[in-house]
Amino acid sequence: MPAASPTPSQTGSNRVARGATGEDFRDHLATADKEGRRRWLFPRQPRGLFYQARTYFSYLLLALMFAGPFIRIDGNPLLLLNIVDRKFVVLGQIFWPQDMIIFAVALLVFITGIIVFTAAYGRLWCGWACPQTVLMEMVFRKLEYWLEGDAAAQRALARAPWTVGKLSRKLLKQAIFFALSFVIGNTLLAYIIGTEALFQIVTDNPLNHLRGLLFMVLFTLVFYAIFARFREQACTFICPYGRFQSTLIDENSIVVAYDHKRGEQRGHLHRGQAPEQRRATGNGDCVDCFECVTVCPTGIDIRNGTQMECVHCTACIDACDHVMTKIGWPKGLIRYASLNGIERGEPLKLTPRLVGYTVLLLGLGVLLAGLLWTRSDVETTLLRAQGALFQQMPDGRFSNLYTLRVLNKTSHPLPIELRLESPEGELRVMGRELNVPAQQSTEASLLVELGSEVLAGGSTPVVVGVYSGDRRVEVLKTRFIGPRDDRQ
Ligand code: SF4
Ligand code: SF4
Repeated sequence: MPAASPTPSQTGSNRVARGATGEDFRDHLATADKEGRRRWLFPRQPRGLFYQARTYFSYLLLALMFAGPFIRIDGNPLLLLNIVDRKFVVLGQIFWPQDMIIFAVALLVFITGIIVFTAAYGRLWCGWACPQTVLMEMVFRKLEYWLEGDAAAQRALARAPWTVGKLSRKLLKQAIFFALSFVIGNTLLAYIIGTEALFQIVTDNPLNHLRGLLFMVLFTLVFYAIFARFREQACTFICPYGRFQSTLIDENSIVVAYDHKRGEQRGHLHRGQAPEQRRATGNGDCVDCFECVTVCPTGIDIRNGTQMECVHCTACIDACDHVMTKIGWPKGLIRYASLNGIERGEPLKLTPRLVGYTVLLLGLGVLLAGLLWTRSDVETTLLRAQGALFQQMPDGRFSNLYTLRVLNKTSHPLPIELRLESPEGELRVMGRELNVPAQQSTEASLLVELGSEVLAGGSTPVVVGVYSGDRRVEVLKTRFIGPRDDRQ
């Protein structure tokens, strides 16, 4: 269904959608008219060095994104976030709910990293690496240019009356968008449940996988809605990062910025007018051509200053550089710069805020590295068997019964051996050898036998070493209940 076709009333151009007077742009959304109706954007396809670099970088990211669920490290996926079974794999390392502390610290590192990165480099992430921008601008938008032509052709098609030709072009586009959304939705599902489970849903009887199919349809519809309909609104209204940026960015952050000192007073370029003559009339280097506005995928005018809608996609840099090159003036009227860089020519400065965040980030990074370094392959709990006290054996020694639970966090079976480290005595695993299958847990009963000479009253501390081969992977501490001194 061609749900995303704009109606003629929505077919405003970027140039119309601007708040370019500079006085009222903060009171208006570039993508809404006065009545609050959606103004559909038709950004012109950017061309230039930054766009080219972003295109190549996006190929890398897209390859990684779609291949990610299939890449295996030591038999495990590169990334798996199985919320349902509470199993997580990062870079082939399996993490369990027992590793929650590591996840909590990793989350703190991630959030602090975002703060530091944004404070220093603005929304570099949004423009270059965010999946929403990469998929929208480098996949869906490019397909749209290929199927419907550049901005002017798209606008003309939107205004044209509905004919069989227009209907079939629109339907073809929406069908391709839907198919792509299906692929993206399934990729996300593969990151959550794994490729094996996904293939089972696809190949098995659908009635056996109703929940999986429901999520498959849901994800497809969400992505279709985002890329066919919501587009830049996902960044402006939905993404919290865009909203936070105003609190994270300061006058020293690097952003995509218009050099107003050089550009103002803006004015059209008159034929044959030399730069000196132009400056003598009070005009700056901005020739008010609106090229930077027509390429903007969020419909804003960067000359109004840093705005929440700006995703730092660099399209306006390319457009303006192209204009400056054409008229023979230096490039960089719009460029990556800080406000202080433009106002006072200052380079990127380490402000106390940035230093504070960086120290915090380093501290959390060290803590995370420490937690990962000391993370054990097994998670073991040793509890005294419920209701059991101690037993005296025929040779006079005493015994306690314990229940042991071992979780094998690795992707291979793990033979486990238990050794009584202190005090001197005997430890016996009841029944069978401990061999824990990969990614599973097992339970066993074990008996600790101590002579009365090593007992320290009614409760004696006991240390048990958990060994895998010759490697001690964990140390367990518990207590041994024995008779009180007066009964010995
Ligand atoms: S203002 Fe420039 S960098 Fe920001 S979104 Fe628009 S084109 Fe991209
Ligand atoms: S592209 Fe450059 S010269 Fe043209 S309006 Fe934008 S800032 Fe001014």
